[in-house]
Amino acid sequence: MPNTLSSRPQLRYLSDQLDELRRKGTHFRLRVLDDIQAPVCTYDCKKVINLASNNYLGLCDHPKLREAAIQAVKDYGVGSGAVRTIAGTMKIHMELEEKIARFKNVEACVVFQSGFTANAGTVSAILGKEDFIISDELNHASIIDGARLSRAKIKVFRHKDAAHAEELLKEIQNEPGHKLIITDGVFSMDGDIGPVDKLADLAEKYNAIMMVDDAHASGVLGRNGRGSVDHFHCHGRVDIQVGTLSKAIGALGGYVCGSKDLIDYLYHRARPFLFSTSHPPSVAAACIAAFDILENEPERIQRLWDNTAYFKQQLGNAGFDIGGKTTPASETPVTPIIIGDGRLTMEFSRALFEAGVMATGIAFPTVPEGKARIRTIMTSEHTREQLDQALEIITRTAKQMSIL
Ligand SMILES: *Cc1c(COP(=O)(O)O)cnc(C)c1O
Repeated sequence: MPNTLSSRPQLRYLSDQLDELRRKGTHFRLRVLDDIQAPVCTYDCKKVINLASNNYLGLCDHPKLREAAIQAVKDYGVGSGAVRTIAGTMKIHMELEEKIARFKNVEACVVFQSGFTANAGTVSAILGKEDFIISDELNHASIIDGARLSRAKIKVFRHKDAAHAEELLKEIQNEPGHKLIITDGVFSMDGDIGPVDKLADLAEKYNAIMMVDDAHASGVLGRNGRGSVDHFHCHGRVDIQVGTLSKAIGALGGYVCGSKDLIDYLYHRARPFLFSTSHPPSVAAACIAAFDILENEPERIQRLWDNTAYFKQQLGNAGFDIGGKTTPASETPVTPIIIGDGRLTMEFSRALFEAGVMATGIAFPTVPEGKARIRTIMTSEHTREQLDQALEIITRTAKQMSIL
């Protein structure tokens, strides 16, 4: 028997808040994956078609990544033993950074433990309290946290609204502080694409630093999945490109690409880099193998986009609101099914699971109140049969619940 800490009064207020979530119908339990992250897999002992993962290219269990990870365990063991700046930089970490820099055609790259730490660590390292951040209202939490940690002044522009961003830049153009414009490349909840080209123009006009978070664009947008800068032909115009190794790349980590001095500076000042242990060698090895696949198997990305087009079209034909009316329109494999009410959305998600489809319900505060949705994410590995079956289940369940 564990010690009965729950009878103590100290953390009672947390239990009260959980009760509040239960009353609202938005309390959740973690779904546990019993086997492999795949288009059809088993959560909580139930086999489902999986529309919830970020495993865009099916690399989570790709034989070449598995092999590379196993070989690295055999060659180098399981842990790196220290933070990068003390004794934890292994040859394979450097090899991965060089590989990504070549892939992105930039001078240098630094790999962090996650995309979250890459964003938060970078923004907080390069700005101080005299500086300004011009940030899209729907930017990821890791950017917001980095901005707060930096103590810079945060100016939020309306979603994808470059004209509004310019107004904010004008207001501060005579201030001495550094200015950072930052946007997600692909927005994770709506699947729309940030106006990287227009913001890059503003960065030049107002002498601001330009930064893009390509977590959902890495391996998805641009030639061979090079990301939003490649998609918009903005090479050489974006100072800081963040990407993740945890989504399409199939493993874990985040990276920052930019000039040699930016990366060297982050080696010296980014706190997650300085104060948290580096990746196990097996993770670095798996990521290296993944970039080989991006370079050599572009047909995976083509399949991802073919599946995306098909699935969106079928959902639209069935009469679902897949964004574009009261929410931004998806342009990528992230496709929301807008429901509106938080409780109904969570009930719909649970009913879909029971019927054999895993699709996450997302409600306030992750998305605005009244814009709750089921989020679906396509992968290159879903077959047409699986997609048709998922569509049939989603449509049938929605009709049963009077959503359609
Ligand atoms: C997922 C995500 C991150 C975090 O990446 P991790 O590697 O999972 O930590 C950062 N930014 C955006 C926009 C994301 O969607």
